[in-house]
Amino acid sequence: MNLLSPITAIKGIGEKTATLFHRMGIHTVEELLSYYPRNYEQFQEPVTFANLEVGKQQAVLGDIKRPLEVRRVRGLTIVTTTLVEFGTCLKLCWYNMPYLRNTIKPGSSYIFRGLVQRNKGQLVMEHPQLFKPEEYESRISVLQPVYSLTKGVTNKTVEKAVRQALEEMDLSQEYLPEEIRCKHKLPEYNFAIRAIHFPTEEETLRLARKRLVFDEFFLFLLALRHMREYVEELGNCCPILPCTQTEELLARLPYKLTGAQQRVWQEVQADLAGPGMMSRLIQGDVGSGKTIVAVLALLAAAANGYQAAMMVPTEVLARQHFGAIQSILEEHGFPYRAVLLTGSVTAKEKRRLYERIELGMVQLVIGTHAIIQGGVQFDNLGLVVTDEQHRFGVRQRELLTQKGGHPHVLVMSATPIPRTLAMIVYGDLRISVIDELPKDRMPIKNCVVDESYRPKAYAFMQRQIEEGRQVYIICPMVEENPEVEMENVIDYAEALREEFPGETVIAYLHGKMKGMEKAEIMERFARGEIQILVSTTVVEVGVNVPNATVMMVENAERFGLAQLHQLRGRVGRGKHQSYCIFVSGSDNSDTRKRLEILNKSNDGFFIASEDLKMRGPGDLFGLRQSGLMEFQIGDIFTDAAVLQAASEETEHMLKTDPQLSQAEHQGLREKLERYQLRDGGSLQL
Ligand code: ADP
Ligand code: MG
Repeated sequence: MNLLSPITAIKGIGEKTATLFHRMGIHTVEELLSYYPRNYEQFQEPVTFANLEVGKQQAVLGDIKRPLEVRRVRGLTIVTTTLVEFGTCLKLCWYNMPYLRNTIKPGSSYIFRGLVQRNKGQLVMEHPQLFKPEEYESRISVLQPVYSLTKGVTNKTVEKAVRQALEEMDLSQEYLPEEIRCKHKLPEYNFAIRAIHFPTEEETLRLARKRLVFDEFFLFLLALRHMREYVEELGNCCPILPCTQTEELLARLPYKLTGAQQRVWQEVQADLAGPGMMSRLIQGDVGSGKTIVAVLALLAAAANGYQAAMMVPTEVLARQHFGAIQSILEEHGFPYRAVLLTGSVTAKEKRRLYERIELGMVQLVIGTHAIIQGGVQFDNLGLVVTDEQHRFGVRQRELLTQKGGHPHVLVMSATPIPRTLAMIVYGDLRISVIDELPKDRMPIKNCVVDESYRPKAYAFMQRQIEEGRQVYIICPMVEENPEVEMENVIDYAEALREEFPGETVIAYLHGKMKGMEKAEIMERFARGEIQILVSTTVVEVGVNVPNATVMMVENAERFGLAQLHQLRGRVGRGKHQSYCIFVSGSDNSDTRKRLEILNKSNDGFFIASEDLKMRGPGDLFGLRQSGLMEFQIGDIFTDAAVLQAASEETEHMLKTDPQLSQAEHQGLREKLERYQLRDGGSLQL
């Protein structure tokens, strides 16, 4: 077995499990080893019921006195029991696990471990884990790896596979030059890779993580620099010159661009016509009007005879942008064709689209990642825009190059990233900031309330609906289980029907719905046919329905600040006064402090910096920032110091041995080549 062996080389992984692993992006043993835990669990001593705290993961010792109760509610089997200790009750429940009735026997004791919640005044644990007391005892204080999973793969399966690989592989070969390791106090790969999966204590984990974060940044930056050199040599191979079509569009917009939008559009135009290829990042808070700048650039590309593509993270967003662009083309009679390319397009339709794109019969392609994944070839791709894109880096650019072009690249994001960090991570990207909201915007009015406020909130929504406005309600995600989440959203929407007059149209969205279904609901909402949309966070990114004026977030304490700010950004997009109601199910003081930040400010940059302050550097277990650049393990914010170190070493390497041809860099060179090959990129040094 070596690093490049397929995972079937591992005992216990057959073809079937391998297919599931492929879905998690794991094909080789090396990819398995770098499938780092997303978190670690540390089991604490069980608490007495009097010490239960809502919002915390806790364990209790429970004596089972009666057989568990089993109920069926709309296709869902719910198993429950209530434990009592000195007058405090704790209800336990599990969904779709009827066999527990036979496992958990009256007369025995177990440790139950889970998130403590309060529901209708009662303490509840949903889906608690279950241990024999002696089994639990042996796990206390050991850090347990928690992996991201896909359906059909358990945490145990991954854990066992990793253990196997670690046992059988000789990992003593080190690819990071000793000089670098010593200088930055990085442990050896051999040590780090073991410790990241099975840390013996927090300090080892911290060290291991630092090393692997360094590796990740270093490889990324080396690849990025090589790419940059390559792009620089190209010059501007698709000059896009100012054209009358964009002027025409601007003249007939229902609004005037803000000063910031105008400035940024000029910067983009200068790049497109300039001496090299454009690589520009547009940062602007939610609602600042980034889309129109992108649309102008797309139109300019088409008018100059090129194809242009726009890539977004969700189908809902793709359809929204596609619709907007279609109507602009029709309204102005521009002779360009736009198509929508997403995961839910049928294979047959896809082939037809591919053909038309390859023949150059289509100028504008709007879609999801499907744009760079499938067999699409462009005729002459001149520009790629990515909107709210989390991952657009070296590999994506390389993939596009293979697909028939060296396009100009425009990346748009609402995630504020400090300039110094952006300079490193984007290396070659220029940055434009839209730091001004359209003039007609009124600041969103916020409030943070507890659950008892709900009836008042509903009454308020009713008044807004009577005035013709629309409402979003974000349902809590009880846990990372799409089945349960779906049930929640449906239940909530149903209960809500009792609270509103019969003619109010209430609909829901959740992650288990197909892309098409979601998009249809969103479109009906956008047309005003739905008044209240109950949803999980799938509406988080980019969705634009200016008539919606109320956003209510249930269990706001469960979300990260950046995410809450994104959610809030769904309202306040039009001329009406908008409101955001954060309902907090916890009176924990940290939670209150976090929500207070949102309550006080509507400014994304301010919120991000406060968030960062509260998390602190090297925060191992904090909520991950849903960020612009998502690395596997590194976090450009909290690992900024490591990023800086990796950046310096990259510069140094490029000065001393740019081709990594020295003997002591051979391991690194091979590692880098493998890094560049992942995801199908094929960047050669
Ligand atoms: P975001 O930056 O979050 O992507 P959008 O581009 O979706 O924001 O714009 C939000 C809303 O503001 C849209 O309805 C858009 O039509 C509108 N808009 C954009 N620019 C202006 C402007 N200069 N004046 C008024 N409304 C604008
Ligand atoms: Mg947007």
